[in-house]
Amino acid sequence: MVTADVQVADVTKSFGDVHVLHGVSLSVEPGGTLALLGPSGCGKTTLLRIIAGLEEPDSGTVAAGGRMLFSETERVAPERRRVGMVFQDWALFPHLTVAANVAYGLRKLPRDEAESRVADALAMVGLADLAGRSPETLSGGQQQRIALARAIAPQPAVLLLDEPFSNLDAALRTRVRTEMHQLLAELGITTIFVTHDQEEAFVLGDDVAVIRDGRIVQHGPPTAVYACPADRWVAEFVGDANLVEGSLSGTFVATVLGRFPVSCVMPADALEARSEPRPEAVDVLVRPESLLLTPDTRGEAHVELVEFYGHDTVTLVRTRTGELLRVRSPGAPVANRGTRVTVSYQGPEPVAYRRHTM
Ligand code: ATP
Repeated sequence: MVTADVQVADVTKSFGDVHVLHGVSLSVEPGGTLALLGPSGCGKTTLLRIIAGLEEPDSGTVAAGGRMLFSETERVAPERRRVGMVFQDWALFPHLTVAANVAYGLRKLPRDEAESRVADALAMVGLADLAGRSPETLSGGQQQRIALARAIAPQPAVLLLDEPFSNLDAALRTRVRTEMHQLLAELGITTIFVTHDQEEAFVLGDDVAVIRDGRIVQHGPPTAVYACPADRWVAEFVGDANLVEGSLSGTFVATVLGRFPVSCVMPADALEARSEPRPEAVDVLVRPESLLLTPDTRGEAHVELVEFYGHDTVTLVRTRTGELLRVRSPGAPVANRGTRVTVSYQGPEPVAYRRHTM
């Protein structure tokens, strides 16, 4: 299957007075998977529809598969874009068989070729045995795979998935996600998928583009986005975050957890460039798993709540200065509610956020 990269540059879109996208740019490496992660209503689906050609931007350019699809001078029709899309509700035709659903985008091909493409696509998603069934008689996970088979049967250069797991109940979601992950790895097709779920974005995305209010606020590998979020909002959106008050002097920060070096200060002015000689008030990003909890009758913090998840435990700890910290420890709880503890920072050098910005 041919793979391609995607390049979206400076795309804006309004619906009447509602400005949905404000100069959005993003790119996907050939064969890569980009997770477009953002809260409800931030413009994710609109952006996907613009790439598919189902919506026209007000300005900007869209290129994929080495071709310009939209610019001031180009307008490639959706069916000629070689872009396959799986819609949020899958949009299957209940009155057609599984095979006929998958054949839907192949009507212009000779019958033999269409049949062989349908068979290939169904084999790829593991539904070859169910070709003659009605989609309604199949499970949610199977229906999702029909929609995927229908999108890949025309051999698109780019695959777009809109909230691929939102139609599945929680019990099924993790399993189907792993199946989809395996399939995408096997297909090697350039993919963009939309999600509001950070875990989904991190698990499936080679890169994550975080979108907020129609703007990409961060674009990078999941590990980089998690370790070094662009701002406080991203820090809290992509996982559990403690934002601990600190006093920054040079490259060191003093907090209730002690004094330690920071990796960077956001907004991203270089540390060396700071001319401010006096300590500066900052918030330090401390991930819950970077904290070590030790029962200690003379500790200055105490446990307010214990949440046992099986694989780990989250303990809510009130510090001597009144801050409430989330601490994630592997395995079973190490301290009960009401007990005194000490909390120490065990993580990599954290990020600090200046107070005068959001
Ligand atoms: P969700 O996760 O809830 O689907 P989203 O991030 O995908 O959200 P969009 O569906 O892109 O967001 O919608 C962004 C904004 O654009 C919303 O305020 C929505 O109401 C508005 N919008 C989307 N399509 C249209 C349309 N055809 N006409 C008018 N407004 C629209």
